[in-house]
Amino acid sequence: MTGPAFPYISTRGGAPPAGFDDILLSGLARDGGLYVPDAWPVWIADTLAGWRGLSYAGLAAEICAPFMAGSAAVADLPGLAESAYAGFDDPAVAPLVPLEDGLYLQELFHGPTLAFKDYALQLVGHLFDAVLAARGERITVVGATSGDTGPAGIAACAGREAIDIFMLHPAGRTSEVQRRQMTTVPDGNVFNVAVDGTFDDCQDLVKALFADDALRDRVNLSAVNSINWARVMGQIVYYVHAALQVGAPGRPASFAVPTGNFGNVFAGYGARQCGLPVGRLIVGSNANDILTRFFRHNAMEIRGVTPTLSPSMDIQVSSNFERLLFDLLDRDGAAVAATIRAFRDGGRLPLDEECWRRATALFDGASLDDEGTIAEMRAVYERTGRQIDPHTAVGLAAARECRSGSEPVVVLATAHPAKFPDAVERATGRRPKLPDHLADLHERPERCVTMAKDTARLTDYVLANARAARG
Ligand SMILES: *Cc1c(COP(=O)(O)O)cnc(C)c1O
Repeated sequence: MTGPAFPYISTRGGAPPAGFDDILLSGLARDGGLYVPDAWPVWIADTLAGWRGLSYAGLAAEICAPFMAGSAAVADLPGLAESAYAGFDDPAVAPLVPLEDGLYLQELFHGPTLAFKDYALQLVGHLFDAVLAARGERITVVGATSGDTGPAGIAACAGREAIDIFMLHPAGRTSEVQRRQMTTVPDGNVFNVAVDGTFDDCQDLVKALFADDALRDRVNLSAVNSINWARVMGQIVYYVHAALQVGAPGRPASFAVPTGNFGNVFAGYGARQCGLPVGRLIVGSNANDILTRFFRHNAMEIRGVTPTLSPSMDIQVSSNFERLLFDLLDRDGAAVAATIRAFRDGGRLPLDEECWRRATALFDGASLDDEGTIAEMRAVYERTGRQIDPHTAVGLAAARECRSGSEPVVVLATAHPAKFPDAVERATGRRPKLPDHLADLHERPERCVTMAKDTARLTDYVLANARAARG
């Protein structure tokens, strides 16, 4: 073969194009950039209309196949997608619920860990195994989590033949539900490490492992964080699934997305680039409102992170924003690298007015503090009897603030209310119940080792347990 069948390029322009399987396994490009498709697949109106009536897994296979052209897993994709979503606890997988005139909630919490991250990661776990089996390789996934990524990453990798996963969390600093979703997984290829320290300490340890080239090669280190392109690809599916139900391709839909790292809403952008009629993409933020300040005033300025009731959005620098920046700067990798460097050094993103206007033609943003979040959760409960989680409340309030006219707006409900029981109880006076498949979560035995922040000890632990190290 002369080159990858469906090439991906780096947002910083300093890494060679790569095929799907390589970027699936490696995540970040060697030049520090993020991979994006060289060109987007094209969906015409007939393509979209032809997808109406497909099952969620069937739609996932149709949408992902062109992105995976040349992959060792593409021939088995329909079966892999079928298995990925078979365990979800709603037959619609991502049911769309009308809330009030033209506003819909898309429930993205029917996967094993009750957050939207399962929708891409369950598929990614199956793709990893298929590609690794074809190559006769194993990988060792290492990650750090402050909450939702850890459980979803572990659920994606648990029991997989060719993967071992080591997940670091700050001891005593995740919620009990989140910790138990990691530590009660019984599979022998799952290793939980509670670090005496903060989330940043966990991230430092992960970075130290990735900086150790000998270790990297020996255990084939890999990552499941949101910069992996395959996660964006897997998330494009539910945008199409929802839009088809509210009138696409004849009628555009807008989306409101509770946003942290910008990976979820970037998938909405990807759907639009392929041809889905999308009105607006509304970015919801909590008190950490850097993205709102950007979309409103072209003022992306780093401030400190404030802890809120919606912890998965307590982020200042949204890593996936770089993918949008790449397009805003006419896909000039050198310009992206220089702009990101200036942002990191000076704390403010330098972007000229014309590029910013291009972003605001599609995107809008609104933010909501904790008090507003509680009020929104309470108002929805009083009007409809429905409990929503704090992240979803932020998205819903943003939708109300930014919507225009009668165009349908789909609010992505990114977590199940029972994932954040304290906030939901405070707002509604009723403690939400875990779904049946997790009802005994608090009785299940936990497995976890506790460690000081010590790179050498962690390295020894990984080498002693990763099957890839044994060759
Ligand atoms: C991860 C997460 C988010 C943020 O998603 P991004 O893709 O990082 O923008 C929002 N809500 C919940 C519940 C999450 O777990």
